[in-house]
Amino acid sequence: MAKAVFLDRDETLNPDPGYISDPAVFMLYPWVARELARLKKAGFLLIVVSNQSGVGRGLIRMDALDSIHQKLNDLLFAAEGIRIDHFAICTHRPEDGCECRKPKPKLIEDSVKIFGIDPAESFLIGDRDSDVEAGRRANLCQSFKVDPGDETSFRLAIEAILKI
Ligand SMILES: [Mg+2]
Ligand SMILES: [Zn+2]
Repeated sequence: MAKAVFLDRDETLNPDPGYISDPAVFMLYPWVARELARLKKAGFLLIVVSNQSGVGRGLIRMDALDSIHQKLNDLLFAAEGIRIDHFAICTHRPEDGCECRKPKPKLIEDSVKIFGIDPAESFLIGDRDSDVEAGRRANLCQSFKVDPGDETSFRLAIEAILKI
């Protein structure tokens, strides 16, 4: 079976000025490519699980969201020759009561089915309690909460995953 690290996007991989709708303003934290490359080398799929309610609110166009994720992968590829394997995105507003918005585990569970992932061999990294809760509800081995913009907490999460 495959194993994966599920990654929150905003404030975990990139600074978030709020409802990023323009690829030009999207940047990765400078340590992210290097650290994700360590996970790739260890055989993990990299799957972004992200709530993007700005789409449902009409603040972010779907084609802009696709362009942002293309840029994310272009930045990773330019730096380390790696890519995110899958983007699992909830585009609904909280008040829509959808089935996929974190902390619900559906984005993770759907990816588990698509890629034949063993949750017990898989992890999550996020900056919010709702990320960690989604990982817990999806029965992942462990979920790590990192501080936004903090290289050390991100690196320590990666190293814990590589040691388990
Ligand atoms: Mg976040
Ligand atoms: Zn949703």
